[in-house]
Order: sequence, then C-alpha cells, then structure tokens
Amino acid sequence: MIAGRLISWAAAQHGERPSLVFGERCYSHREVEARSNRFAQALIALGLQPGERFAVLLENSPDSLDSLFGAEKAALTCVALNARHTLAEHLDILADAQASAVLLGPQFAELAGALTAAAGQRLPALRLVLGLDVAAPGVLDFRAACAAAPEQAPAIEIGPQHLVRIAYTSGTTGQPKGVAYTQERLQARLTNHFMAMEYGLSVDDAMLHVGPLTHAAGVYLFPCFLRGARNVILDRFDPRSLLAAVEQHRITHLMLVPTMMSRLVEAIEQGLRADWSSLVRIHYGTAPTPVALIRRALRIFGPILRQQYGMTEAVQPLTVLYPHEHLGDSEDGADEPIGSCGRPSANVRIVLRDPQGRPVPPGEVGEVTLAHEGAAAVQLWRRPELMAELVRDGWFHSGDLGRFDRHGFLHIVGRNKDMIISGGFNVYAREVEDALAAHPAVLESAVLGLPDAEWGEVVAAAVVLRDGAQADAAALQAFCAERIAGYKKPRRLVFVSALPRNGAGKVMKAPLRERFG
Ligand code: ATP
Ligand code: MG
Repeated sequence: MIAGRLISWAAAQHGERPSLVFGERCYSHREVEARSNRFAQALIALGLQPGERFAVLLENSPDSLDSLFGAEKAALTCVALNARHTLAEHLDILADAQASAVLLGPQFAELAGALTAAAGQRLPALRLVLGLDVAAPGVLDFRAACAAAPEQAPAIEIGPQHLVRIAYTSGTTGQPKGVAYTQERLQARLTNHFMAMEYGLSVDDAMLHVGPLTHAAGVYLFPCFLRGARNVILDRFDPRSLLAAVEQHRITHLMLVPTMMSRLVEAIEQGLRADWSSLVRIHYGTAPTPVALIRRALRIFGPILRQQYGMTEAVQPLTVLYPHEHLGDSEDGADEPIGSCGRPSANVRIVLRDPQGRPVPPGEVGEVTLAHEGAAAVQLWRRPELMAELVRDGWFHSGDLGRFDRHGFLHIVGRNKDMIISGGFNVYAREVEDALAAHPAVLESAVLGLPDAEWGEVVAAAVVLRDGAQADAAALQAFCAERIAGYKKPRRLVFVSALPRNGAGKVMKAPLRERFG
C-alpha cells in the first residue's frame, strides 16, 4: 500500500500535529488517518470488492483526501472525475472505467438524478450512487455510513500489480485516455517526485493546495505527509482569497497552473496586496507558461519559481526547472533556461525523435519519447491498440514536440497535432504565443494553423486583450514581425473575450478554428 501506508506512517510519526487545514477546520495527522480508515471500512461494508472501480466527483476538501487514501485502503480502483466536466463527459468516463460506484460531493447534488437513471442502462456496472451531504432519491448517505464505520484500518493486503487508480488525461487533443496505475507504478511516481525535490520541508512548512487534489495536484500532498508539513486546502481559486490564505497560514509552498499565475500576477500588478513574505517556492506547470508571464512573476516574488513538466501517463515530474535556473541569461537569447521546462529528472530518460522514430540531432525539434528507470512502461486502461501505437520498444510517445538546447534544457514547443507547416516551414505555436505575450496589451493567445491554398497552412492567432487595453491586428502583427521570422507571424488574427478551455483549464484549439470562418 503506497498512499494509504504513507498516511498511516505519518499518523504514527506526527500524531496530533496539524496535517490538514480547510476553512476554519484543522485536522491532525491522526484524524486524517482515522477518517480514511472509516471511509475504507464504509466502502467495504457496502460490499464493494477489491479491484472494483470507485469513481469520485469532489471539489477540494477533506473528503477528497479521504477518497484518495480510503479507496486504496479498501483495495478499490479509484477513478477521479473532473469537477469542471459536463454530465456527458462524466458518463463517458464512468462507462469507460466500468465503475461500480460513484461518490458525489455536495456541489454535485444536481447530477444525482441523471446518474441513478444511467445506472443499469448506459452504465451497466454502476450499482451504487453515494452522496456526501446529497439528499436525493436513490443516493446513499455516505457521510452517515462513514460515521457508523469502525476507525481501524481494514486488514486487506494488496500486491504490486493491484490497480490503485485509473487517471484520465485532460482530453486536450482528443477523448481522455485512462492511464492504469498499479501499486508499483504509483510507487515509482512518488519516488520520482521525492527525488526531484530540491527543497526541504519540515513541520514548520505549509503547502497551499488549490489545484484539484484528486488529480495530478494531489502529488504535492505526499512530501508534506512525509515531513509533517501542513496542507492548507482551498476549494476554488481567486487571487484575493489565495493571498489571504498565504498570509493567514504563513504558506511556504504553493502550486499554480499558468492561468492562476496569470490572474494572480495581474491582480498584484493592479494593486492587490498581502504579506506573502513566507513563500519559499511557487511550483508551476501543467501547460506552457509564457516567458513574459514568468518574468512578471519573478519580479513580484523573486527567484522562488520552480517549473515541472509532466503528463498523466508518466512519472511526475519528467523535467524540472529549478529556481536558480530561472535567473540564467544568455547573450543570444535563444536558449535561456527560463523559456524551457528544465532538465530531465534523475530517473527519467527523454529522447526526441523524428516521425520515423529516429533520435533527432541535438538542437532540433522532435517528439518527446520517454522511458523511466525501474518502472514498467505506461499502461492504458482497455486501449490495447492505442498502447501499441504509443509505446514502441519500451518508449512512450507523448505527442509533445520539444527541443534540447545546448545546456540540456528541454523546450516544449507545442504538440505534434498542433504543428503548423507554412510554405514548407515548421511553425510551433509556443514561439508565436510567446511573441504575442510580450506585448503589453495581450493577456493570452492561442496559435493554430489554417488551411491555405498558397502556403499549405497559415499561422492564425486568437488573442485575448488585458482589461482596458487596446491594440489592433496590424499593431500586433508588426510587433511579432520584430521578434519572429516573417513566416511565423500570424497572418490571421481575431480578438476573443476568452480562450476555450477544457476541464483541466487547458486551451482547446479545435473549437477556435470556427472563429476564423
Ligand atoms: P490529452 O492527452 O487527453 O490530449 P493532456 O495531454 O492535456 O490531454 P495531461 O496529461 O493532463 O493531458 O497533460 C499533459 C500535457 O500537458 C503534456 O503532454 C504537455 O503537453 C502539457 N504540459 C504539462 N506540463 C507542461 C509544462 N511545464 N510546459 C509545457 N507543457 C506542459
Ligand atoms: Mg496528453
């Protein structure tokens, strides 16, 4: 047992010290352990058998932690649904995972009717709809079930091949894919995470979690349990409450996705203030972060930024850009580490390949393929054909395009599905988006290729302007022309009020095409 054993160990090690803070409530390590035991016992009492899929739909709260550890202690296979997804997306994932039970948090009560109706028909495996503070017909009161359950850890042993979790990818490039995490792979993922930590944590530290804990953001919980640091949880992001929590709890560590970083930096530049002097690390990643935004964040917070690059399929993190590496400046500007996502972690091997699978020469762009020391290859849930396509000779083909600079830093330039070929030249969205982001009026942009009779494809950009800022297409094109080669300059440019994003907050380029007619 990995996660479950770690929190039991933390309970023995750190006992009554604060472990979890949510709103006004603080839970000790011992209480966190007891909650997860009751959660597991309640699942077992409902007759759920080892290896059955147990889906959860929860906003960040102590319940989301219970689900992570309790499901494992009950030897179930946990499937986290994304709180930002639609009902149709939930149903697709529940069907794909063949879930036997689904647990709804209080914010999702309105889905109860549709889920109970889908059981048996659309979802033949689903036999239990459980609710936490959800009063609806056909929904079992799981809060009461936990309260009535014993506090002892269940006596279930699970082996290295036990399937602990099916983690679904974000669905940025297609349907979300289920990634199968056995005990062994989860252990490899956590070990890699610990190995890539250059920072110390102790009982004096506090980590603020605002990304979804039932998803990748949850990995940051584990070093805190290990070292006895406090976990402070927020259930939604806004700059003001985030900074208030930083000040109130003397937060030392924070994890942000780029959209959060953008809103936070924007709010601070517009005058939002708090005491954030306790911060020693801001971890960020999950999507490309414009260089201009990183520089603005560095001006505000100083050299405490730490970027991670990873993906649902792989051990976390694949690469890390450490804080001191954010300070490097090179004369030619071409290979500054700050535009990169860092160098591969000690346990990870990354080889960039051409479409034929041959490693590309240093400095050239290729598909990121990866292997991990001491762990089995990526396993997808019920997708043998896709597995055969993506895992070749033990190397996982990620679909990301990258370039190693001469210092070994990996620059992610885009996804291979998004690569633009204009007049025979390759254009990578990232470079054009970075050029646009350097303009003071631009909040964010998304760059894609449009079919064109003359050039094959032309570069197009959808741009969101900052509040109150003004710029026209010609001005932005002229600005880009000073920074990037002519064939990379966006020929078509539209202004939009927001970029379409998926449940993970990542920009979806396909729906944007319609905007160009
Ligand atoms: P799907 O695979 O379903 O299309 P997805 O790839 O967005 O969706 P995730 O596994 O959540 O699903 O995201 C991993 C991807 O996010 C990576 O492959 C990469 O494209 C992007 N990514 C993650 N971290 C970074 C980073 N630090 N810099 C740039 N891109 C990143
Ligand atoms: Mg992916």
